[in-house]
Amino acid sequence: MDRQQEFVLRTLEERDIRFVRLWFTDVLGTLKSVSVAPAELESAFEEGMGIDGSAIEGFARVTESDMVAMPDPTTFQVFPFEGGVSGESARMFCDILLPDGSAAWADPRHVLRRMLAKAAEKGFTFYTHPEVEFFLVQDGPLDGSVPIPVDGGGYFDHTTHAVARDFRRQAVLALERIGISVEFSHHEVAPGQQEIDLRYADALTTADNIMTFRHVVKEVALSQGVRATFMPKPYTDQPGSGMHTHLSLFEGERNAFYDGDDPLKLSKTARAFIAGLLVHAREYTAVTNQWVNSYKRLFPMQLPDRITESPAFVSWGHLNRSALVRVPAFGKPNSARVEVRSIDSATNPYLAFAVMLGAGLKGIEEGYELPPGAEDDVWSLSPAERKAMGYEALPENLAEAIDVMSKSELIPEVLGEHVFDFFLRNKRQEWEQYRREVTPFERQRYLGTL
Ligand code: GLN
Ligand code: MG
Ligand code: MG
Ligand code: MG
Repeated sequence: MDRQQEFVLRTLEERDIRFVRLWFTDVLGTLKSVSVAPAELESAFEEGMGIDGSAIEGFARVTESDMVAMPDPTTFQVFPFEGGVSGESARMFCDILLPDGSAAWADPRHVLRRMLAKAAEKGFTFYTHPEVEFFLVQDGPLDGSVPIPVDGGGYFDHTTHAVARDFRRQAVLALERIGISVEFSHHEVAPGQQEIDLRYADALTTADNIMTFRHVVKEVALSQGVRATFMPKPYTDQPGSGMHTHLSLFEGERNAFYDGDDPLKLSKTARAFIAGLLVHAREYTAVTNQWVNSYKRLFPMQLPDRITESPAFVSWGHLNRSALVRVPAFGKPNSARVEVRSIDSATNPYLAFAVMLGAGLKGIEEGYELPPGAEDDVWSLSPAERKAMGYEALPENLAEAIDVMSKSELIPEVLGEHVFDFFLRNKRQEWEQYRREVTPFERQRYLGTL
């Protein structure tokens, strides 16, 4: 038993913790949890916990279903706020193994680990910093009716909206107490919409943190009698919830994206990385934006007083909020980074980080040239102007996104064939279900007039 494992067992005993949750994530990004008693944990560290992989979305076919969840003691965390009568609980993330001890191909943590190892071979550590947007709505029936936001607030509003303010306070405190540092939190543009930004960390830690974040935010909402939703676009006429993610590569202590001599202070590595993000953007969008609903957000919508600020075209720019990739202004050399703005809050963070890293590394490997940045508002150009400038459109719906992904060479390499095939199959089914549905839009429009 190693020191980390011993630390876990000792902590459980000292704090009299009765439940340990072992967490892992399926291919679509749903959190899975199995509770064990502390007494079982010693053997779980040695042999793992047996699970039936065939019962988990995307993990295995029935014939090869025996899998093992191996707790990762470096992710051990006590959850003080789930107290109540049963005392504290704790959780650890697991890696999923096959019975012979090798990594299960379908485990999203493994997919990301594999890409991180590839980056490490080139001397890079990959850091990510997500800005997570979501809605707080009143608890109500999930029958398709329009949810009622908990407040009527807007961007950075401070004074009037007690529910949201108290909610953010509680959520941020809960996150800090379990070791997830929050950099920033504020009300977002739409009524009920919130944003909480996590401090940057290596990509695996960030992905684990995002999974934890979603759980904690939903729990805090529940405790206040409201619902938190990471659905990308709950309202037709309001902006959706993005998860802008800032990416950087470090070589040891040094930020590999920084070059003081460049006008934008971007290194060659950064430029090739951005070029990779752009060249492969259409291919990985099915992963960063994986639901039918995701594409209602990636739409250049002009609201009466503003534009929705979610990208619909493949371009990059400095300080340009209509671009897919934005290079924010940064002060310190180590803050050099690029922000991807298409990704939404309902993605599987492990797979999304893996494909974005894969695309960026491809750009570095192949020495892709970065085209000139977009200084204009890309939304307001005419289609002909956009074509002339080479700004391709992102996929317009899930069907187009999976079609583009299915022709990609890069994405199956990054995800592995198993996850790639499962993902496409699953998403085609989702699209088919959606496609046959007759919607309120059609009835409103056609029933009386046709
Ligand atoms: N909600 C917007 C989106 O969908 C982002 C708004 C912002 O953070 N500037 O991406
Ligand atoms: Mg923000
Ligand atoms: Mg925001
Ligand atoms: Mg942002």
